[in-house]
Amino acid sequence: MTQRILVVEDEPAIAESVAYALRRDHFTVTIASTARDAEREVAGMDLVVLDLMLPDSSGFDLIAEFRERGLKTPIIVLSSRDDEADRVAALEAGADDYVTKPFSPREVVARVRAVLRRVEMPVTPPPRDFPVRVDLGERRAFVVDREVELTRVEFDLLACLLQRPGRVFTRAQLIDRVWGDGYAITDRTVDSHVKSLRRKVGDGGAGPAVIETVRGVGFRIASDSDPEPPE
Ligand code: CA
Repeated sequence: MTQRILVVEDEPAIAESVAYALRRDHFTVTIASTARDAEREVAGMDLVVLDLMLPDSSGFDLIAEFRERGLKTPIIVLSSRDDEADRVAALEAGADDYVTKPFSPREVVARVRAVLRRVEMPVTPPPRDFPVRVDLGERRAFVVDREVELTRVEFDLLACLLQRPGRVFTRAQLIDRVWGDGYAITDRTVDSHVKSLRRKVGDGGAGPAVIETVRGVGFRIASDSDPEPPE
């Protein structure tokens, strides 16, 4: 499941360069060239990159409208003016971050990643009787109420997957969240850590099926409603 980004920008060259960089980084991108298009496309997006100067509306008004509608989708503003008042106004209207033109598309991608990490999906607690849990503060993991010893990477993988039982995390998403930028981690490395985590969780009594492999996509914590056998 790739994350979806809405780029709202009426200048085609800028919209295309941002979209190109995001797609190269495996985001799914939709471009809207007007506020009206943006209103239509915003549902289901994971993040909006929004130019403040649109032909039919100001970006400020669009942010305010989205927030009034209760949309919590994070918004990164593209501002052509290096003006502190604009940035403050955008943030006060409900934007999450801003990039000042001229920018490099890579910079926008980096901001998108940072904001998505920051506003990480709300944590969904596992079912009450779920056999695996983590204590994030003390960095301890428990299987059927007995502590299991995990490596740093195994713990972070488990904590990430447990944020959203049932949701599939791609290897790229796990690399991004567990190792962060700047590490050359291969899919095979992820697989080997997951394998070892699965063994420890299984040995602890939770059964290896708790961490599911979704072939061709990634991994998830099994949710009761949607059981699948492990690989
Ligand atoms: Ca514009």
